[in-house]
Amino acid sequence: MTSAEIRKAFLDFFVKQGHTAVHSSPVVPANDPTLLFTNAGMVQFKETFLGQETRDYTRATSVQRCIRAGGKHNDLENVGYTARHHTFFEMLGNFSFGDYFKREAIQYAWKFLTEELNLPEDKLWVTVFEEDKEAEDIWLKEMGIDATRFSRCGAKDNFWSMGDTGPCGPCSEIFYDHGESVAGGPPGSPDEDGDRYIEIWNLVFMQFDRSADGTLTPLPKPSVDTGMGLERLAAVMQKEHNNYDIDLFKAIVQKASELTGEKNLTNSSLRVIADHIRSCSFMIVDGVLPSNEGRGYVLRRIIRRAIRHGYKLGQTQAFFHKLVPVLVEQMGDAYPELVKEQANVERALKLEEERFAETLENGMKILEEDIASLQSDVISGTTAFKLYDTYGFPLDLTADVARERGLTVDEVGFEREMEAQRERARSASNFSAQSKGKIDFNGQTKFLGYHKDDADGVIQAIFVG
Ligand code: ATP
Ligand code: MG
Ligand code: MG
Ligand code: MG
Repeated sequence: MTSAEIRKAFLDFFVKQGHTAVHSSPVVPANDPTLLFTNAGMVQFKETFLGQETRDYTRATSVQRCIRAGGKHNDLENVGYTARHHTFFEMLGNFSFGDYFKREAIQYAWKFLTEELNLPEDKLWVTVFEEDKEAEDIWLKEMGIDATRFSRCGAKDNFWSMGDTGPCGPCSEIFYDHGESVAGGPPGSPDEDGDRYIEIWNLVFMQFDRSADGTLTPLPKPSVDTGMGLERLAAVMQKEHNNYDIDLFKAIVQKASELTGEKNLTNSSLRVIADHIRSCSFMIVDGVLPSNEGRGYVLRRIIRRAIRHGYKLGQTQAFFHKLVPVLVEQMGDAYPELVKEQANVERALKLEEERFAETLENGMKILEEDIASLQSDVISGTTAFKLYDTYGFPLDLTADVARERGLTVDEVGFEREMEAQRERARSASNFSAQSKGKIDFNGQTKFLGYHKDDADGVIQAIFVG
């Protein structure tokens, strides 16, 4: 089954059960300053769950584009290291706004997997929140699933929240067992973090609204929010273990291989690049541009990481933006907004590539020299700061290089340097207030003073002319 067929089968199944199909919302949440990026299908329905907005339906289904690269759900550091994480992925979801609750949510999910997709029951594992006896009884007594493939888990995995505040509740998850050839224990066991049992679907029983002080207030009506990663399900359906081997990634990895000259298609840098082109492109589609703060800085960090992985494979020319046409071929049908913005995406990526190209090579030389002369396995905060300040290396980029070499970065030392920089910037901006507009260069250029960028403390002199 192709990914496109899976999307369609999912939506069709839930439409048949009375759900309204709703198109994906942007990766930048509308009017929600508490959230960096849309990290789940429920985000566009947040107000509906909270009872602050009513819609003309009580059941919905969607395929939502999601980004998990900052805030509460952040998988950036997992990319390239696990078989199942992306910074950008698509979430298949069905939602009930005070309509059905646990029983139907469980019945629908099981029916879709075992009857629609014909997945064998003995490959599926189920977990519930340890205090949720109701869900446990539905699975074991009503659905009759095998108790040997069932576990009760704590809040870390089985109490879902969108962020520090907002809708949340206990959940029940379904895992797929990829078989003995892969390391990792079943859910709830001490070695559950391996990639043998891969979580595919999370059924959240939305019951509370968490406020900033942690208080849980019951929602007006108990609701359901489910999320299943399209790429993980596609891996199961396409008999692949690793998400990066599914149809959606093949052409992108292939193109990245051509552009970098790396022949081994399982090379993790190729996978990182293939992941990053998806998140970066969709961020730009949805209005984010590289900058030094907030969402724009997350975008800049991910682009620079991708470029550094290209550099690691020997590519020193701009290449990243050349992946966009292949991405559009793969995803354009499902996301017409990507087709519409293609030219803008390519332009923005190319510009950022050219900008970083000027400093990447020199920065890497400094970093290599530093690593070669290290007496310990920690890269100093001073070096990391110098790379950041002079060469535009985001801290996580330096940390990414460090991790590849079995090293770490002194992040506390980095922060100390950063604070000292801010201190210098503060005194400089006092100075700029006084000197504003006073210096005149032959009447052509006016010095307006210094500008301190709050996100990274960089001081820039500002001229007009
Ligand atoms: P994991 O434990 O594997 O990190 P999760 O518990 O953080 O996943 P949920 O928040 O429950 O994930 O999200 C619902 C579903 O979305 C998951 O069951 C999975 O199928 C999918 N998913 C979550 N994070 C990612 C990701 N980074 N890349 C791809 N799919 C993901
Ligand atoms: Mg996770
Ligand atoms: Mg999980
Ligand atoms: Mg989960």
